[in-house]
Amino acid sequence: LPRLPLFEALVAHEPGGTAVVHGADGRAFSYGRLVRDVARRRGELVDGLGGGKGLRGERIAFLAENGFEFVVTLLAVLASHAIAVPMAPSFPATELRYIVNQSQAMMLLSSDKWRSHAESVLSEGLEHSPISAHIEKPAEESSSSADIELVDVSEEEAQGAMMLYTSGTTNRPKGVLLPHYTLTAQCKSLLQAWSYSPSDHLLHVLPLHHIHGTVNALLAPLMAGSTIEFQFPFNATTVWERFAAPFLSDGTNGGPPKPPITFFTVVPTIYNRLLSAFPSLPEPVQAAARTALLPSNLRLNISGSAALPTPTKQAWTALSAGNVLLERYGMTEVGMALSCGLDVADRVDGSVGWPLPGVEARLVESVEPPADGAAPAASAKEELRVIEAGDELDADGRERQGEIQLRGPTVFREYWRNPEATAKEFVDGGDGGAKWFRTGDVAVRRAVEGAGEGASGAWARGPLWFILGRRSADIIKTGGEKVSALEVEREMLALPQVAECAVVAVPSPSWGQKVAAVVVLTEEGRTAGKGGRAWSPLDMRRALKERLVNYKIPQDMKIVESIPRNAMGKINKKTLVKAIFPEAF
Ligand code: ATP
Ligand code: MG
Repeated sequence: LPRLPLFEALVAHEPGGTAVVHGADGRAFSYGRLVRDVARRRGELVDGLGGGKGLRGERIAFLAENGFEFVVTLLAVLASHAIAVPMAPSFPATELRYIVNQSQAMMLLSSDKWRSHAESVLSEGLEHSPISAHIEKPAEESSSSADIELVDVSEEEAQGAMMLYTSGTTNRPKGVLLPHYTLTAQCKSLLQAWSYSPSDHLLHVLPLHHIHGTVNALLAPLMAGSTIEFQFPFNATTVWERFAAPFLSDGTNGGPPKPPITFFTVVPTIYNRLLSAFPSLPEPVQAAARTALLPSNLRLNISGSAALPTPTKQAWTALSAGNVLLERYGMTEVGMALSCGLDVADRVDGSVGWPLPGVEARLVESVEPPADGAAPAASAKEELRVIEAGDELDADGRERQGEIQLRGPTVFREYWRNPEATAKEFVDGGDGGAKWFRTGDVAVRRAVEGAGEGASGAWARGPLWFILGRRSADIIKTGGEKVSALEVEREMLALPQVAECAVVAVPSPSWGQKVAAVVVLTEEGRTAGKGGRAWSPLDMRRALKERLVNYKIPQDMKIVESIPRNAMGKINKKTLVKAIFPEAF
């Protein structure tokens, strides 16, 4: 195996320690076994399928269920100098075909279960002919314990290692090329901030084609020697039963004892689904699950990939007798960028914390030229200004909003086969240093008393960062004011009548844009209106008057049964707004 930090860590772990557990049947795979299987699979890939020519820089796409085979395949591709392109088996063939085409994958590997899906991906519409190959089922533990050698690899760290596609929330998914050193830097940064250890036992319920499931919940814990237990697809009852199992007085239905879950990282929609499933659990499971959630058992519960609604966070704290969710912010292009701290005082509601170790972050304000008429002159250029520390307020005492820009080893290298997009998103800092990546997300910084005093580590200091949303979809410009969709959503979700909502910008001839909202009511909301009827937009606006200034209150509101979300629980606002408010377009 190549002498890269990840493989150095893997061979140094206690070989008998458990690396992977299949939650469904309890099958466990040790680190010793993992390292041997990765080395063997690497050999098969390079010598067999690669025809001895080597696979350097080739993209290898794969479809496999979450579990040991997936982990072996991913690590074997990383070790073979090829670029791993993990794909989501739940995606329809057309979307997978887009990825196989866009990445120009030379090979598509599939497990037994996804063989026919892979064949339909390859059956038509491809611009090239990838090799179709097979991912073996893990055999029984072999007795050989051959030592695995590490081979020096010069300049290997700068080579592409993995390519993940963005969630496609704002456009078609883009291929994000992550070199080895980037993956290493992302993992090390998380290891330092979140203190993963060999005694951590993670419950993994996320898809593996996305940075959250692949880096935060897989590569980083593997680097630390933790145990990863897969349970996929997510099912709220099964997750609760697993949390509860070690604390049920009658054992675990005769099966082997299960260790407590110490580490859990998911998206806000999953926390919501767990909270709503909780009351229907049998009483003994509820009691055991509450014990499982105590901070002394569940060391760390993390939320990210989308904004965490404060009511969700508070409900979780109440259920777990004080286990506070830690929110962090990240994206496919950079891994994790901002995070709250391990110290509970450093998990402030609505905030995503501070730049993680090794991440350089700045906030850049765009000052628009004063507009004489309704629309600013097309020739007028916006001015970009860095918001310096200590200078967070403008002359009127209002918080200055800026775009988050990042640089450092955790930042990706390029969008695959898309130099225009790459060029557009990297800007010169004018300081002779590396270019800054424009995240497209807008934030403010605010000092909060009691937080950032150093208990979480030297990186977690100073004013906290608060995400306002995406520049393109969440910053609504209405009548000369800028409204953060995320802020309005937060206030709406604080109403007990609102279960889910999405605040969007609707074009308006008189205001430029109007604040509008799509709402799903709670059980309570369905009968909270006059005469036991459902709550109306008028009721909602009245309730919001106590929480928001007038121009932030949605002028248009539509109540719907559900809001469509993608695999990571994200809402595509561009599609949503056109579907729900077609008359405005
Ligand atoms: P695409 O780039 O294809 O439109 P995407 O941006 O949703 O899709 P990802 O890289 O999966 O793809 O998501 C990153 C984005 O998720 C961030 O840019 C940010 O807008 C959002 N995000 C992540 N964490 C948080 C958080 N804690 N709070 C608010 N937003 C978050
Ligand atoms: Mg994005």
